[in-house]
Amino acid sequence: MAVGVSANGSRSAAGIGMTSQRTRERMVERLRAEGIGDERVLAAMAAVPRHLFVDEALASRAYEDSALPIGFGQTISRPYAVARMIEALAARALGKVLEVGTGCGYQAAVLASLAREVYSVERVKELHERARANLRHLRLKNLRLVHGDGSLGLEEAAPFDAIIVAAAAAELPLGLLRQLAPGGRMVLPLRDAGAGPQRLVLVARDRHGHTQTVLDPVKFVPLRSGKA
Ligand code: SAH
Repeated sequence: MAVGVSANGSRSAAGIGMTSQRTRERMVERLRAEGIGDERVLAAMAAVPRHLFVDEALASRAYEDSALPIGFGQTISRPYAVARMIEALAARALGKVLEVGTGCGYQAAVLASLAREVYSVERVKELHERARANLRHLRLKNLRLVHGDGSLGLEEAAPFDAIIVAAAAAELPLGLLRQLAPGGRMVLPLRDAGAGPQRLVLVARDRHGHTQTVLDPVKFVPLRSGKA
């Protein structure tokens, strides 16, 4: 799957394909230096052409380790945040995954090259449509994009082996937790005491309940409810 992404991605990025492949490899080296160790995640990030997911005016900055605006007050997450979240989930092979907050679709593309099946929900209609356009060239047959309120999960496709939330919640969304299969994992940014700084949290569900592990401090846009 990752090979398909690479081949299609460079074709649609004719002209800058070579340069961006080198730039992408430099991004991967930086992620490795920052502590990302899962080779499958690094290979997927080397394969997905991140510059195709941001405005042309920002394409030259696509491989910097920063969040960039994607319109509607939203951002594409920093490469490190994308890698860290997927790495936290991919400790086991990724089966059926739910992403909440498609944004421009970048993380969904990385996930689809690693997982068996990916569902990604975005509440802002225009972003959902833009992600669809951004992802068209990659022809990822195992990725479904849905316009809706992802904080409620996606009942029709539940349960999921993994859930990844790309926007910060004030508390653990219980609806999402219920759609996690036993043995499943969810990673999400949570605000301390509902309003404080955000931390990435890994939630592991077992037959009896769930456990939470706090990972790094992070900065994500807020998780909102309802469609827009
Ligand atoms: N996954 C993206 C990150 C997008 S930023 C990436 O690859 O970079 C987070 C996104 O979450 C925004 O597009 C925002 O509109 C969306 N979002 C916020 N609350 C949501 C909700 N309840 N359901 C679905 N999407 C939501």
